[in-house]
Amino acid sequence: MTPYDAPATQATLAPAAGRGPLTDGLGRKVRYLRLSVTDRCDLRCVYCMAEHMRFLPKAEVLTLEELDRVASVFVGLGVRKLRLTGGEPLVRKGVLTLVESLSRHLKSGALDELALTTNGTRLAALAPDLARLGVRRVNVSMDTLRPDLFARLTRGGDLGQVQGGIEAAAAAGLEVKINAVALARDNAVEIPAVIAWAHARGFAITLIETMPMGEIDEDRTDQFLSLAQVRSDLESFWTLRDVAATTGGPARYVEVAETGGRLGFITPLSHNFCESCNRVRLTCTGTLHTCLGQEDATDLRAALRAGASDAELAGLIGEGIGAKPRGHDFRIERGAAPSVSRHMSATGG
Ligand code: SAM
Ligand code: SF4
Repeated sequence: MTPYDAPATQATLAPAAGRGPLTDGLGRKVRYLRLSVTDRCDLRCVYCMAEHMRFLPKAEVLTLEELDRVASVFVGLGVRKLRLTGGEPLVRKGVLTLVESLSRHLKSGALDELALTTNGTRLAALAPDLARLGVRRVNVSMDTLRPDLFARLTRGGDLGQVQGGIEAAAAAGLEVKINAVALARDNAVEIPAVIAWAHARGFAITLIETMPMGEIDEDRTDQFLSLAQVRSDLESFWTLRDVAATTGGPARYVEVAETGGRLGFITPLSHNFCESCNRVRLTCTGTLHTCLGQEDATDLRAALRAGASDAELAGLIGEGIGAKPRGHDFRIERGAAPSVSRHMSATGG
């Protein structure tokens, strides 16, 4: 009997006890779900969104109850880590209710971690509640230390507000990791300073290469900066020591001897990380994507709204994961259409 055959109610699915992990056709075990709770955002980062984004009609977006239900089916199937993302997860109305509800899986031991990726604008207000509800780690995006550049890159964001949010998160006891997208024209020269800023505060930082996802207003080719190049530049004045990958994710980590901090590189274009991929994504419309860089999709919302049982949802999830592609096919070429037409904000970055 496969893990999907068992008649399952939410109650029997909730603890993962006795269920094998979700395994794809290549033997990779899926333990990590990134759940986009909204496609909306209070910022408009230039590499992520067009200035005048058309957001989804509310009816297309899963309700908080639907998000909770689907996420709980994943947990029942053996997913051990959930990350809420978006869009900006903290602008979703009622997001704390969702966090509170999902935290029951932490209490039951079915889930190891409930984390969040955020732009930080609402962290000052929400960090204490997130910590109280069982969130232990937040990833906060901050690409620059220059308020003027931050405002330009985010089309109107306030760097002070984000840094205040980061401080509030740390003060609430959350482990903070900084995400910074490497941009050839905009922050390349500043990258060492951003790393030093994070490490001075005890935060790990991950650098991300721009990925060709969704139409934006500019050509990404000009902004593409290879992290292999960044790494070799950093090595001209810092000592970088490789640390063993622990997350099963796309980041490769080093420790910077001079700062004592951890630095990750996410390099989908210049390095292929797919063979150890342990994650899948669910969009806020209930579409399961088993690869960030491919168009494969399983619609769970239609089943959910047609009254599918948890066992039926589990069956669909199993089928989707069974067909998880071997790897992505990202390319950045001048003038080329994005390799993947959906935006990162819709997929859940
Ligand atoms: N709004 C939250 C934030 O900014 O952290 C969560 C969602 S955002 C889509 C998640 C991450 O994806 C951010 O660190 C952002 O910088 C990154 N991102 C967005 N578009 C990207 C792209 N085209 N290439 C690489 N990273 C991207
Ligand atoms: Fe919003 Fe995050 Fe995309 Fe920036 S990267 S526009 S903060 S979703």
